[in-house]
Amino acid sequence: MQNFNFHNPTRILFGQGHLADLGREIPAGARILITYGGGSVVRTGTLDEVKAALKDFTVFEFAGIEPNPAYETLMQAVELARRERIDFLLAVGGGSVIDGTKFIAAAIPFAGDPWSILAEHAAIDSAVHFGTVLTLPATGSEMNSFAVITRRAGNDKLAFASPLVFPRFSVLDPTRTYTLPPRQVANGVVDAFVHIAEQYLTYPADAKVQDRFAEGLLLTLIEEGPKALQTPDNYAVRANLMWTATLALNGLIGAGVPQDWATHMLGHELTALHGLDHAQTLAVVLPAMLQVQRTEKRAKLLQYAERVWGLRDGDEDARIDAAIQHTRQFFESMQVLTRLSDYGIGADAIPALVAQLERHGMVALGEHQNIDVARSRQVFALAA
Ligand code: NAP
Ligand code: FE
Repeated sequence: MQNFNFHNPTRILFGQGHLADLGREIPAGARILITYGGGSVVRTGTLDEVKAALKDFTVFEFAGIEPNPAYETLMQAVELARRERIDFLLAVGGGSVIDGTKFIAAAIPFAGDPWSILAEHAAIDSAVHFGTVLTLPATGSEMNSFAVITRRAGNDKLAFASPLVFPRFSVLDPTRTYTLPPRQVANGVVDAFVHIAEQYLTYPADAKVQDRFAEGLLLTLIEEGPKALQTPDNYAVRANLMWTATLALNGLIGAGVPQDWATHMLGHELTALHGLDHAQTLAVVLPAMLQVQRTEKRAKLLQYAERVWGLRDGDEDARIDAAIQHTRQFFESMQVLTRLSDYGIGADAIPALVAQLERHGMVALGEHQNIDVARSRQVFALAA
């Protein structure tokens, strides 16, 4: 096992009924900015419940944070927050609203050009405190310190991370996810699946606990994901999916093991240039990535084949092929398609995608830093 330093400060309030307790988690007298997206939280009544729970505070609202949150939009919230001397943020929504709120939190006190937080990884030395009310289990953003922001002018989808942007608390109420459209349910399952794969399908590190955790989370997604599509208001199914997605990317399974993240980096360019949903990009890239990296990942692919898909017999290479095929079929069974052509993207799009990776310095990706421009091109070609 590799050395690691693990600290996760986010308090989780899991289960039905916690919304009413929100006020207790926020310092008395705080001036709160509630951030949300395109209106799902208005339609579902969640925003009204949140406001009712915060009736003793001074509350402002910022609506309109879009999927793949835009820097341009978020900077409007930063201006509002500075003007109104906001000292606590509350994100109500999915990963986009939470990621966007992390950026707002970091940008409010930032002295320089906030874009440098993303483009140059400029260090931040403070951030406004915030909490979240999660409505879409997928990203793990409710319990991690990462955010991914897109600048529409320039087609740049870039990530930043800082211990200062862990949420202070996150409310995880599975009943809030009943209203998700099937496409977002499926996206969430695929995103969480790939987060686990990025930390598990690398090379052995004698991390038996992390491996077993990862396998347990993958098996839970495989068992519960289809049920969430069939019976949207099954509490047990939603609760298991919600907690799985959080545990998939809160640092627990990634402590002490090698990490990949190449599938995410290639996927970000697909969203930036072609507007695919985040999870759609991952469903396209992961099977091709596993194929291209099958030699480097051989031992873990065989372990995955056996422990997750029950493939024990026969030729090793055939088992690896079958494990990759099962992965693809699982995504497709969730109605997330796995080829570039399924999204109307031809092989002629590959040079521009690869040029974006180069422009963003994404030229030594993966747990071995061996995914250079040539290999990325190979992955996209195989995904075509
Ligand atoms: P999302 O972009 O936050 O939301 C997708 C859609 O779902 C929105 O249109 C939203 O509508 C709707 N929605 C959310 N909750 C709903 C509910 N309960 N009922 C009905 N509709 C609902 O999706 P996401 O997959 O959670 O986030 C994707 C973003 O996170 C991407 O930018 C991705 O790159 C990023 N990401 C971050 C991390 C991380 O670690 N921070 C990891 C992976 C991905 P409204 O806008 O109307 O609310
Ligand atoms: Fe993701």
